[in-house]
Order: sequence, then structure tokens, then C-alpha cells
Amino acid sequence: MEKSKVLIIGGTGYLGRRLVKASLALGHETYILHRPEIGINIDKVEMLVSFKMQGAHLVPGSFKDLNSLVEAVKLVDVVICAISGVHVRSHQILLQLKLVEAIKEAGNVKRFLPSEFGMDPRKLMDTAMDPGKVTLDEKMVVRKAIEETGIPFTYVSANCFAGYFLGGLCQFGKILPSRDAVIIHGDGNKKAIYNNEDDIATYTIKTIDDPRTLNKTIYISPPKNILSQREVVQIWEKLIGKELQKITLSKEDFLVSMKVLDYAQQVGLSHYHDVCYEGCLTSFKIGDEEEASKLYPEVKYTTVEDYLKRYV
Ligand code: NDP
Repeated sequence: MEKSKVLIIGGTGYLGRRLVKASLALGHETYILHRPEIGINIDKVEMLVSFKMQGAHLVPGSFKDLNSLVEAVKLVDVVICAISGVHVRSHQILLQLKLVEAIKEAGNVKRFLPSEFGMDPRKLMDTAMDPGKVTLDEKMVVRKAIEETGIPFTYVSANCFAGYFLGGLCQFGKILPSRDAVIIHGDGNKKAIYNNEDDIATYTIKTIDDPRTLNKTIYISPPKNILSQREVVQIWEKLIGKELQKITLSKEDFLVSMKVLDYAQQVGLSHYHDVCYEGCLTSFKIGDEEEASKLYPEVKYTTVEDYLKRYV
């Protein structure tokens, strides 16, 4: 079967650049939206040029110009959007309503993967804590528009990005592992799911031509990466040959500490609350046909231990 042509939007972003690499590596003709708004941002421009040299096509287009989006979308079979959605960086989830409009007008797209890649908003929106719930609510607004328009879709629920969560041993505001003491959330026994962002990108690209994932939510929940914070810390301690001091942070104290932070940080902390204190990512069951490592056993995913080795 011929591989789909793919348009990646947000291709210079934290996840987007990995999606571009995975799409090229898996042999898809790959197009990347080149927004005029990036101007002389040399890092972004250089990244785009390097992708072009690896075989990707750059397509001019802007969210301020619907027609340019329609023209970009017409070039491909599949659109993947990795627009920003983390408040402490940038948050543009609702801009995707423009993209839905463009995909509807173009009328040729066989699959759209919106910028999701986190916790499943449909499963968790009712229990998500404010103000972080806003991210799930906005992702639901986009889903509703996609489904009402009848655009074929796949939603990728990627659980925790390893760079954010494993890097800091699940401590908010840290992205490198501690070597002396670690803050443990509550009893530290709630399970979460950690994924290398390159693996997330590979699994995402795997879904796009797969009839099993059409109009479905796919969860990236590889069994070896479903661990509690204490288990993550234990793996790190074994790697560095040293026991860390454990400082327990109760849920009540965590909630008090949130109050002095700005809105963007509070959004982030609410996600940590849901993941680390409530165990939201493992609060529901999924079937084998919905889980990426079962659908694609040929992908050798990065285990938590292997990921943590990069910091030793
Ligand atoms: P980034 O913050 O890296 O931004 C991605 C891209 O968004 C940018 O590169 C840019 O694309 C585009 N963008 C930013 N602002 C605008 C704008 N005003 N107009 C148009 N495009 C814009 O995103 P992430 O990679 O961090 O996030 C991608 C997704 O992953 C989000 O849905 C987010 O919620 C999710 N996520 C999940 C995490 C988890 O732990 N599960 C952690 C982090 C993110 P361009 O290349 O065109 O400049």
C-alpha cells in the first residue's frame, strides 16, 4: 500500500520536530507548514532548512490566512497538528478550529490528528482539576468540531512526556533528576505512564495509515513504563548507586503551594496534581486494540531505565 503524504503543523516544536523526523524515517512524503510569522527566528528557519535537506517539503501558510491553510492541506492525505498546548511555553489549541475549517473546505484529507498527545480529555475532563482543566476543555472543543464536520481522525493520548516528567523524577519545575533529595507526592505510589517523545512520534506516524486506528483514540501505555514515582526514583537510585533523601509533600501542602504561582504555572501544577496525586492516567482500563505498543510490537520502545541513563 502506498504511504500517505503527511502535512505536519508545528513542525519546529518540541514534539513537532520529532514527528517530522519519524514521518521521514518511516518513508512518508512529508510536508511542513512554514509560517511567515516565524520571520527571522534563525533556530526555526535552520531547523526547517535541515528538514528540507532531509527530504521534507516546506509549505508556506499561516493561521491568519485560511486560504493558505486550505492550499497546504490539499497537498496531502494526512494532517498532523502539534501546535503548542503547554501554558508555560505557549497555548494555541483553539487555533486548530481554523485548521478544521481548512480541512473541511479542502475536502481531501483521509485522516486528521489534532494536537492532543497528553491525557485523554474525554475520559478525564470531569475529574481534571482547575485551572489545568482548560487544556482538556479546549482539546474537547477541537474534537467536537472535528466530529461534527465528519473529518476522519485519530487522537493520540501520549500520557507523560519523559523529558518533563522523568527528567525531573516527577517533580514540578525540575527537568533534571535530583542527586540528593527528591520530593515525593503523597505516598508516591500512584502509577503514571512515561514515554520518550521520539517513541510518541513513531507510534503517531504508525497510526496514520492503519485502519484499526480510524476514528479512535490510541493510548501510548507500554507496560514497562507504567510506574509509580517511588519506582521511578528507585530506578534512578540504582543507576547512580545512591539513595536519595525523600521529602513527602502532602496533597494539602501541594495545593497551598500552588496558590502563590502565576496562572500558567498553576495550569501545569494541576496536571501534576491529577497525574501524581490522583493517578488519573491509570484510572481507567483500555483494550489491547487501543494501545500503541500492542498495535505496533515491532517498535522497540524506550524503557524508563533506558531513558534515565542519559542523565547519569
Ligand atoms: P510547542 O510549545 O513546542 O509548540 C509547537 C508549535 O506550535 C510551535 O513550534 C509553533 O509551530 C506552533 N505555534 C506556537 N504558537 C503559534 C501561533 N501563535 N500560531 C501558530 N502556530 C503556533 O508545543 P509542544 O510540542 O510542547 O506541544 C505539542 C502538544 O503536546 C500539545 O498538544 C501539548 O498539550 C502536548 N504536550 C503534552 C505533554 C505531556 O506530557 N503529555 C507535554 C508537553 C506538551 P511552528 O513550527 O510553525 O513555529
